[in-house]
Amino acid sequence: MSDAGQTVDLVIIGSGGGGLVAALAGAEAGLQCLVIEKQSLVGGSTGMSGGVVWLPNNPLMREQDAGDSEEAGLEHLGAVIGDVGAASSPARRLAFLRQGNEMVDLLRSEGVRFERAIGYSDYYSDAAGGRDDGRSLEPLPFNEAGLGEWQGKVMPGLASAIGLVVKTNELRSLQYFNRSIRCLLVAARVFTRTQVARLRGRKMLTNGSSLVGQTLKAVLARDVPIWLSTPFEGLVTEDERVVGVRVRRDGQSVEIRARRAVLLAAGGFGRNAEMRRKFSGEQPNEAQWTVSNPGDTGEVLEAAMALGAATDLMDEAWWLPSTRRELGGSTLGQARQRPGAILVNDRGQRFVNEANSMVEVGKAMYANGAVPAWIITDDRYRRRYANGKSRPGLLPQDWIDRGWVRRADTIGELARQIGLDPLELESTVARFNRTAANGEDPEFGRGRSAYNRCMGDPGHSPNGALGPLLKAPFYAAELFPADVGTCGGLLTDEHARVLREDGTPVPGLYATGNITATVLGRSYPGAGASIASTMIFGYAAARHVRTVGQETS
Ligand SMILES: Cc1cc2nc3c(=O)[nH]c(=O)nc-3n(C[C@H](O)[C@H](O)[C@H](O)COP(=O)(O)OP(=O)(O)OC[C@H]3O[C@@H](n4cnc5c(N)ncnc54)[C@H](O)[C@@H]3O)c2cc1C
Repeated sequence: MSDAGQTVDLVIIGSGGGGLVAALAGAEAGLQCLVIEKQSLVGGSTGMSGGVVWLPNNPLMREQDAGDSEEAGLEHLGAVIGDVGAASSPARRLAFLRQGNEMVDLLRSEGVRFERAIGYSDYYSDAAGGRDDGRSLEPLPFNEAGLGEWQGKVMPGLASAIGLVVKTNELRSLQYFNRSIRCLLVAARVFTRTQVARLRGRKMLTNGSSLVGQTLKAVLARDVPIWLSTPFEGLVTEDERVVGVRVRRDGQSVEIRARRAVLLAAGGFGRNAEMRRKFSGEQPNEAQWTVSNPGDTGEVLEAAMALGAATDLMDEAWWLPSTRRELGGSTLGQARQRPGAILVNDRGQRFVNEANSMVEVGKAMYANGAVPAWIITDDRYRRRYANGKSRPGLLPQDWIDRGWVRRADTIGELARQIGLDPLELESTVARFNRTAANGEDPEFGRGRSAYNRCMGDPGHSPNGALGPLLKAPFYAAELFPADVGTCGGLLTDEHARVLREDGTPVPGLYATGNITATVLGRSYPGAGASIASTMIFGYAAARHVRTVGQETS
């Protein structure tokens, strides 16, 4: 059959986590689905990510009698998110937990293999309902050969650049291979696994690319077509109902009719400078620091907005405080969660618990005159910590020569180099040092939560999340509010239906993931929370379409 004039039950725009799960759930429920993807690879930001899925009381926790519950999960969402309006309504939170569990069950029954990322603590483990051992799942490494002719078509995952077959939960330990025997053993296991895969000639997908690869395999097994290199051009409506889409296929504009619905799973607008300028409000941003996938450009969101869909949280993003790109992969990106490092603002003052969630720190940077913030470290920090570009103890001279990292023999001199008040920075460091030696931070509580400690240095006592800055020379580098994507967009209900300003659904239109205003509001409860959101509401959409979708043609 020619592509033009095709009709399916459910047209899905975007092949990230939300799109693929919807395709699988839809096909499993007997719907004829079609996935449209504008890039030449499957997976979007989900493919590039750690592939972790945060879900309270998830099926693996229940199998292991981990002692979690839906009530604790709801309590925790309430404590962390607070009241942010309809995007995180009680019904949507409940759907997150309930449909999330069904979604994981479905993926597992279709062959996707997960394990618990034990020890990757909830980010607010000390808030009501929080858990120190964490609630995240991650996909096991997956042999790409299982994809048959789709090999080479999945977005490269988080660890692909370092060339190791490493799970996301192992990355926490890998960076401290020189700091504890346990971490050294984890590193040895990762290197052995990598060597074995190499000797057997296997290309193992890990992290986000494993999650996408395994889900893709299940989708293909159910004969769902996925059209790559096919950009969405517009929505087709009749009498205010969405009845299809127009896409560009092999240079032609093609209309695809949707008998039941269209699901928008096309990600956010991380890379759209104009939209970010327009919507970023008190958190000004021009897309200059984002690491979201290249397709995160917002045109599908704009098409839904033009239909009168309501939006919320448009100024918000999954913030990921990051150094300048040239230092990418350097030890400094993780400095805020390690001993011997602090963050200061343009007044030379600390302004946040540096070791808290990436989203919280990013927001605090905007709220406290810290764009950029300065990472301040001492020489012990440099000697201790490994990084992607240099071994512990090495700091490329080129970074100093180019001014990417500043170095000085005293804190006062360092302050002068970076334009801060020397007395203020000296007093900030002295105040931090007084209690940091005992592992305490009375000002911001750094190092108190299990989350702070699980990201810190296991070889440092009394507290792996903080320690004083004592040994000259001292170093400074800028930290910017980068992000892994935006998380504001279309307002949707618990079934993932797109809503108008008056709260009524746009007939025939569903949305999930970063194109929507997230159920997580302005917070981030745990590793994998954003991937969980897109997959869960992709699942919810497919289920709802199956039960109530109307025939339109
Ligand atoms: C490096 C990195 C690491 C991350 N790590 C984590 C993590 O560990 N845990 C976590 O929870 N989150 C993480 N994230 C964030 C997370 O990956 C995203 O928030 C989430 O996966 C978004 O899912 P999505 O389904 O909304 O969009 P995506 O996965 O981005 O998929 C959207 C797809 O839609 C396609 N598309 C866009 N426009 C069009 C169009 N016009 N026509 C056709 N197709 C279109 C895009 O090309 C893309 O493939 C990370 C992100 C990155 C970039």
